[in-house]
Amino acid sequence: MVVRGFDELRERAAAARGKIVLFNVPFTTYGETVRYRGTGAVEAARAGAVASLIRSVTPYSQRTPHTGGMAYDSTVRRIPHAAITPEDADMIERMLGRRQRVVVRLVMTARTLPDVQSRNVIGELRGTEKPDEIVVMGGHIDSWDVGRGAMDDGGGVVAAWEAIRILKELGLRPRRTIRVVGWTNEENGLRGGNAYRDAHRAELDRHVLAIESDIMQLGVPGMGLTVDGTRYFWYHHTDADTVDKLDPRDVALCVAVMAVMAYVVADMEETLPRGGPAR
Ligand SMILES: [Zn+2]
Repeated sequence: MVVRGFDELRERAAAARGKIVLFNVPFTTYGETVRYRGTGAVEAARAGAVASLIRSVTPYSQRTPHTGGMAYDSTVRRIPHAAITPEDADMIERMLGRRQRVVVRLVMTARTLPDVQSRNVIGELRGTEKPDEIVVMGGHIDSWDVGRGAMDDGGGVVAAWEAIRILKELGLRPRRTIRVVGWTNEENGLRGGNAYRDAHRAELDRHVLAIESDIMQLGVPGMGLTVDGTRYFWYHHTDADTVDKLDPRDVALCVAVMAVMAYVVADMEETLPRGGPAR
């Protein structure tokens, strides 16, 4: 059974019983469309489906399926949930439109393994006058099993580390410390970021700026790079997220901007105003 969204599934819930539900929802924005990956299995199970499929969350496809996080809910049965390519999703929809019988055989090898230890990777350019005050920036060092994670988030983490490497090479040492963190396990629930926050909670008031980081939610002033993301979701979480997709000039510009942001704030006379912790 193919539906174009949760509303249609609710309307046609009786027809979903015992079926595989395919959410063939074209990409609008990531936030809007990723809901089908996140909670599609729960909604389909609630309607009595035996499995759910989603159209990969991407505006453009070369028949590359996209992986990503999803969640179950303790109130309904855990049914298999998989992403197929937009091309295949449309084909199935056309076949059903012609009243053809569609049989899908799911062969899925994903498993959830026990937790093991992994670490954030931290490097610093120590400040000259106020080394305990910190500008933190970084990216995540984990990636999905498909592809290489070049865009998500190799480019991000390398840009941050290049930024302090360049400052060091230029002999620029600001008053405060610039700390680059390669966050571990972002994709599977922001575990590295959360662990950093918990381990450094006592000194968060001495974090004067966070660039591209999740501790911004705790009242630490934040800055980010708004890059042209048009193509990001073409490749992200797919086998095609390889380093050839990164434009060296774009990466160099990101490095320059991050280096300037970090250096200026780390070296200012004053610190930036702080907000209260967001909830
Ligand atoms: Zn990701």
